[in-house]
Amino acid sequence: MANSTIIQPNKGHYNIAEELPSWEDFSWKDIETNFSWSQTGKVNMAYECVDRHVEAGFGEKTALHYIGEQEEYKLTYRDLKEKSDLWATVLKKRGVKKGDFVFVFLPKHPDCHIAMLAAIKLGAVVGPLFEAFMEDAVKERIQDCGGTFLIASPELVKRVQRDQLPSLTTVFITAEPEQCTGDEISLFEEARNVETEENIIEWVDLDHGLNIHYTSGSTGKPKGIIHAHRAMIQQYITGRWVLDLKEGDIYWCTAHPGWVTGTVYGVFAPLLNRTTTVIHGGRFGAEEWYDILERTGVTVWYSAPTAFRMLMAKGDKLISNYDLSKIRHILSVGEPLNPEIVRWGIETLSNRIHDTWWMTETGAQLIVNLPSEAIKPGSMGKPFPGIEAAILGEDGEILEAGAVGQLALKANWPSLMREVWKDPAKYSTYFPFDGWYLSGDLATIDETGYVFFQGRSDDMINSSGERIGPFEVESKLIEHPAVAEVGVIGKPDAVRGEIVKAFIVLNKEYQESKELLEELRLFVRSGLAAHAAPREIEFLEELPKTPISGKVLRRELKAREAKKSSDLLVNK
Ligand code: ATP
Ligand code: MG
Repeated sequence: MANSTIIQPNKGHYNIAEELPSWEDFSWKDIETNFSWSQTGKVNMAYECVDRHVEAGFGEKTALHYIGEQEEYKLTYRDLKEKSDLWATVLKKRGVKKGDFVFVFLPKHPDCHIAMLAAIKLGAVVGPLFEAFMEDAVKERIQDCGGTFLIASPELVKRVQRDQLPSLTTVFITAEPEQCTGDEISLFEEARNVETEENIIEWVDLDHGLNIHYTSGSTGKPKGIIHAHRAMIQQYITGRWVLDLKEGDIYWCTAHPGWVTGTVYGVFAPLLNRTTTVIHGGRFGAEEWYDILERTGVTVWYSAPTAFRMLMAKGDKLISNYDLSKIRHILSVGEPLNPEIVRWGIETLSNRIHDTWWMTETGAQLIVNLPSEAIKPGSMGKPFPGIEAAILGEDGEILEAGAVGQLALKANWPSLMREVWKDPAKYSTYFPFDGWYLSGDLATIDETGYVFFQGRSDDMINSSGERIGPFEVESKLIEHPAVAEVGVIGKPDAVRGEIVKAFIVLNKEYQESKELLEELRLFVRSGLAAHAAPREIEFLEELPKTPISGKVLRRELKAREAKKSSDLLVNK
């Protein structure tokens, strides 16, 4: 197994640890009793996120703490209720109704939360778009759904090609009329001129559409995944037990709602758990991020390996300028969490970093490191209570501990996607074997139930008959002080089938050289395995990444290699 180190939890460090049921006693039905709809039948995610807390006397609690480039302010749960009711009234007056698609194209900002909640209150299906999407990415997504409504900022709306989107009839702008053009509607002005409608909430079925998210596009064309209100059951309880959210926590999820993590664990889960959420407008910057952690007193922090690696590359001296002692719980998602990052977390932030695994399609975390459990660096953790995981072979047979195969889950958890938009054939490809959801990721499970990610099915390298997971090679290379970032692929090779090729971004103090290249190769050879040592290493200024979630695009690295070899053929 990749790594046998075990890191025990720090007793007393976490809130919820004591409350966890034994896994045998767990039932989703019990979790449902946390929601009033289990008695009343009146379901709406936005009500559960906001209005419920106001009714229960928590209206004055801070819901959002916004830190932008120009301004900083807080909104209470009452503010959030009133604003989302008001915007819902405007949207309704302009024709938004149950089942409509409402796209939201806004930066990380409380307006984005309010717009999403307003649309959800009306029973619309909300489609948050990532703020860095350019024209084509926006067009493809709105076109795919035949989206009718859009809420955008005056800056971002410039990337929306209205002339090519005939379905898009109504565009709301989060600004004053002077900043609107053509038939765009000023949401601010309209909101001043309406009286908030009472009982604006549209009660829906548990299986009514809630949001549409396109997958990150790591392996191909993004798929439009539709989730239903039912997902709240799992989003709430993973927020409570995995994120460990409780009264008094200050929580920061660094993802934009355009990535499913930014919606589920940036908007829904913290609000469902009545937490205070920090919103940082703007992009990554090590100084800004440390400053936010210190200034807002973040206690629970959810981010991604790519961000942790960028912080690590800035060096530990920078961290020592900040007081980050309030942080008590850190989590990671989206890409393999290299053991080196876990070590860094313990050494510099005095915290274990808890890996979590899930996919856009799964709607919530499935494989997790519960705060009360031991961590094995290199492992994504264990199935959440109520989740049954297995490693399946080619014919759907369950493989024994330690064998590599497809990570599969018993398809019966509440947040599982409801459909792949307009593509039922694609939907059924996830369920080739009776009752199992197939992830497309390769993994192993050890004797104690810990799951180890090996790579995407498509990324697995087969060199001279040896199967090599790119993640293991990447994790080894990242331990070397010269390496800031790395992507490993299998490069087609006439003799070996494939060879291991590593693309490396060096830390600033290091220069590319033959000696360094040899040293890196040896580092893998002696630290991991001879056959895993990259035969080729190429140094790059930066790695290609998915725009939203910042994942290393191995598909793109492979395509470049393929192009290079076809260019060679042409030039011969
Ligand atoms: P696409 O489906 O469009 O190719 P994507 O799979 O990257 O893109 P997401 O739904 O954002 O889209 O990501 C889910 C995938 O991310 C998982 O299938 C897995 O490969 C990877 N992933 C998520 N969390 C982890 C983790 N903790 N460790 C390793 N890989 C992870
Ligand atoms: Mg995927």
